[in-house]
Amino acid sequence: MTGSSFCKRLAQLNVFLMFVAAGASAQASPQATAPSTSQPAAATATPPAPAAPTRANVLRGAYGPYRVNNDLLSYHLDVRVDPEKQTISGKNSIRFKMLQDGTRIQLDLHPALDIDKILLGAAPLRYVRDSGAVFVDFPDTLHAGQEYTIDFYYSGHPLQTARFGGFTFGKDPAGRPWIYTACEDIGASVWWPNKDQWRDEVENMQISVAIPNGLVDVSNGKFMGKTDLGDGYTRWDWLVQYPINNYDASLNIGNYVHFSDHLGDLPLDFYVLPEDLDKAKKQFVQAKGMIEAYQHYFGEYPFQKDGYKLIEVPYSGMEHQSAVTYGNHFSNGYLGRDWTGVGVSPKFDFIIIHESGHEWFGNSVSAADRSDMWIHEGWTTYLEVLYVEYTFGHEDAIKYVNGYRSKVQNREPIIAERGIAATPPQDMYFKGALFLNTLRSVVNDDARWFALIHDFYQHFKYQNIMTEDVVAYFNQQTGMNLTPLFDQYLRHTAIPTLELKFNEADGTVDYRWQADEPDFAMPIRVGKKTDWQILQPTTYWQTLKTPLKKNEFDVATDLYFVNVSKE
Ligand SMILES: [Zn+2]
Repeated sequence: MTGSSFCKRLAQLNVFLMFVAAGASAQASPQATAPSTSQPAAATATPPAPAAPTRANVLRGAYGPYRVNNDLLSYHLDVRVDPEKQTISGKNSIRFKMLQDGTRIQLDLHPALDIDKILLGAAPLRYVRDSGAVFVDFPDTLHAGQEYTIDFYYSGHPLQTARFGGFTFGKDPAGRPWIYTACEDIGASVWWPNKDQWRDEVENMQISVAIPNGLVDVSNGKFMGKTDLGDGYTRWDWLVQYPINNYDASLNIGNYVHFSDHLGDLPLDFYVLPEDLDKAKKQFVQAKGMIEAYQHYFGEYPFQKDGYKLIEVPYSGMEHQSAVTYGNHFSNGYLGRDWTGVGVSPKFDFIIIHESGHEWFGNSVSAADRSDMWIHEGWTTYLEVLYVEYTFGHEDAIKYVNGYRSKVQNREPIIAERGIAATPPQDMYFKGALFLNTLRSVVNDDARWFALIHDFYQHFKYQNIMTEDVVAYFNQQTGMNLTPLFDQYLRHTAIPTLELKFNEADGTVDYRWQADEPDFAMPIRVGKKTDWQILQPTTYWQTLKTPLKKNEFDVATDLYFVNVSKE
């Protein structure tokens, strides 16, 4: 995600920037007695009990019976935006195939917006609104296997939520209209009617936006042309030729100027305010190196026919598919800061690198439920690390990823409750990336690791998947049982602790993992930095002979995100 949630969360980030020792609450493992030494005490506080989901969140989050019974095929969103009245009006033509016989489907539209009518052909349909859900009823049974199109007309003042979210009627610094959407958190139905969930995506989408003459709309996909409507408005038509998440569909309306470039056959299009054109021409050169890096690791840019776009906006940024929004002030780092605090982040523009990484993870490979959003954010944060490795080398990459340690909270599991539109904790970004860096060390063969993540992406591109799919793929491809590792890092709050008990007189050290998963077993490099040896600890005590004293015995904690307890 998202620049938008990303940005909104920044206020909270200040709270956790306090150093949380790589540590977590360690829970007693089932065997033996845990040594009573100093366990890292950070973050042992009981997480606050999650608030009960609202009815609106259940209706939006659950893949209920009136969603299961159909499969989206396409949308044509055709709207008019009036900057003076601050209204939107128009229709979404929704084409879908029934998977079961039925007389009702569930769509969604925020209660702040009015439904004008819903038509099947020329026939108006009845509907029932329940918070954000719209249950559409058909007079005759829709049959499994048949395709249908309904036209959903709506209008009103779309909601602006928080500072960046939802639909914003803003002004640029020169006082001209600047209107934009960013709705991953609240859902796309905050500004247009759709089946507002993550599991089912349309195969393609047309976006038509009518705006006053003289303004520019940049939406997703390929620009198909503009038409003067003769009433002071011009319609801008865009065509998305790939599956797309609802929240990625966007409009960006402003006094944009355009410049373009290309990377091989891939068109690169850039839209910025005229005052920022020179700065943008310099800064946006980084888009090429970014795409080259990600193509190196994962294969072709996923939306070749739609092209790649960067669009200036006043918030930090968002990964709108093929139309990435950008608000990082045309400078490196993140909003002027060294984002991971280790001197690497100032070498590149965080928003270009992060938000565009989502084209591969988030937009192409997508999670099927918001609970598993680490598939977007953990992976994309890891893509930053790969970009650093490709561009600046392995040493910088290891520094960069470990710069994320101090941002990890370990207060609740990365995977949130399913089916209630819950937002996972921000650990999905930083801990997610540190976990993937750990997994690379577990695979312990870089050629194999890079082939594995390449093939993983290729296998699941353009699909909506859950963590179970990721784990099954990694288990199958590596021949290892990685399930306890994934579960420990994603489904528990604590990271594993390597417990070491030295007996220097005997020249031995006892070792085991302390972890919530009873079957947790992870190899790890220990001993001397110049000559690591690989231990195979489990949750049972084992003994190693070593000439190294307690203070000479190192653990490769920059390669594995673990705690170490020595006594
Ligand atoms: Zn993101």
